[in-house]
Amino acid sequence: MTHTLIGAPVLVVGAGIMGAGIAQVAAQAGHSVLLFDTRDGAAAQAKDKLTQTLEGLAAKGKLSAEAVAQTLSRIITIAALEEAADVGLVVEAIVEKLDAKRGLFQQLEAIVAADCVLASNTSSISVTAIANGLQHPQRLVGMHFFNPVPLMKLVEVVSGLQTDAAVASSIFELSKVWGKVPVHARSTPGFIVNRIARPYYAESLALLQEQAATPAVLDACLRSAGFRMGPCELMDLIGHDTNFSVTQSVFEANFYDKRFVPSLVQRELVDGGLLGRKSGRGFYDYAQAVSAPEPAVVEPVALPTAQLLRVHGQGPVADRWVAALMQAGQAFLRVPDSDWVGLGVDGAQLRLTDGRTATQLGVEVSVFDLPLNAPSGATLAWAPALRASPAWTRAAPRWLATLGFKPQRVADTPALVVTRTLAMLINEAADAAQQGVCTQDGADAAMKLGVNYPAGPFEWLAQWSTPAVIGVLDALDAHYRGERYRVSPWLRQRPWMDVESS
Ligand code: NAD
Repeated sequence: MTHTLIGAPVLVVGAGIMGAGIAQVAAQAGHSVLLFDTRDGAAAQAKDKLTQTLEGLAAKGKLSAEAVAQTLSRIITIAALEEAADVGLVVEAIVEKLDAKRGLFQQLEAIVAADCVLASNTSSISVTAIANGLQHPQRLVGMHFFNPVPLMKLVEVVSGLQTDAAVASSIFELSKVWGKVPVHARSTPGFIVNRIARPYYAESLALLQEQAATPAVLDACLRSAGFRMGPCELMDLIGHDTNFSVTQSVFEANFYDKRFVPSLVQRELVDGGLLGRKSGRGFYDYAQAVSAPEPAVVEPVALPTAQLLRVHGQGPVADRWVAALMQAGQAFLRVPDSDWVGLGVDGAQLRLTDGRTATQLGVEVSVFDLPLNAPSGATLAWAPALRASPAWTRAAPRWLATLGFKPQRVADTPALVVTRTLAMLINEAADAAQQGVCTQDGADAAMKLGVNYPAGPFEWLAQWSTPAVIGVLDALDAHYRGERYRVSPWLRQRPWMDVESS
């Protein structure tokens, strides 16, 4: 069956935060929109609010008065679903409960035509399960928008086991006409974004649990790697209750796979009502500050003296050392074929982390985090070996400061902060690709557009290297044991795929 949904009348069910946004976007794209909500007055309230928003945009000159009037005239609130018999598409945005969604679609099948497409904006429920019991389950598809709908470009087009490919493709095409960037996804727990994003929160929560760093340090490190918000401030914004419940649902839906285990740190915040911005306090106290505090900084001071400096390894980090030492007028030797990257200072080593702790690597050793596209002034985590001398522990951050970083000391934990987070995001995306949840391009687009990541996981993998990512994950696995850091089979096989295709 083929469907052209472009221009078709649309019914939006549920006039909450998402439904109102979906109605706006559909009406702005020229559709007649019927808006329904079971709560008395909710649809009218949503339309009033939208009227205020659009008129506000018109007052700022961002929309013409005519466009506002046209959009509003296309949205009609209805008091009974029966009034929507002629629509070509239903988008459901009601409460996130399987029974309610199933019941609604079963009720709708008795009202709308047999070829009307039924789309659910569910963020976590299986599309296959919602379709169970429908007369025409092949016409049910997930159309997962992101909040706020008018601004966020991504739409995950989610196919359940019975979804007709032509139905998914009609929603894909329609999303483009609505100004969105659609990505196909298979109905699996968390779909694409909510699944691949789990480690962004989970790794910082794990580091907090082992007291490796403070929230301010973790946030500063990940912001310096290009993320718009650090994980702790982002969880505070999302709300710990919401974030915790998504983690829990992904964990349960994966039959309690330990890789998705929720965090006690977050559980305690939820139990204590410290939900983040909305309750005034989460990791940060919003009575005091409106944004995450910057951590204290080690001021760069004069360079420590050294007899013999060596720049080890090759690539952007080694090049950065070379440029910085030349600028500082320091003599040094190059050891390009070294098996590590970083700076040798007499007998001491300042090494780019390969996943192993500094303590595993030696005595007079410090490790530093991956400076991912980090500009000068970026915060960078580093850690000395447990038995490193006080002199080397003092000197290491000063050498990092000569590279232009703000060094932040964290506990000597494997793969530090950015390195472990990126490796785990890549690992999760690799699993998703292997399981056919999405394509590599789909994963990259979804993470950039759905959660504003500075790059997609496969783009990071292309910049980094598969053996290096595997090395980091194996080092984490060896340190912690358990299932959490097991390497995706896709990633394990990838070096062989690269060899074959070269
Ligand atoms: P919301 O609570 O703001 O709105 C839900 C609305 O649906 C309410 O007005 C409620 O009265 C109405 N409703 C409940 N049961 C109904 C029924 N049987 N028939 C008609 N109306 C009914 O919720 P929301 O945040 O807009 O979320 C709606 C859906 O979108 C959920 O499935 C949610 O998981 C999903 N979603 C939410 C977000 C988000 O960030 N809020 C993002 C993506 C997807």
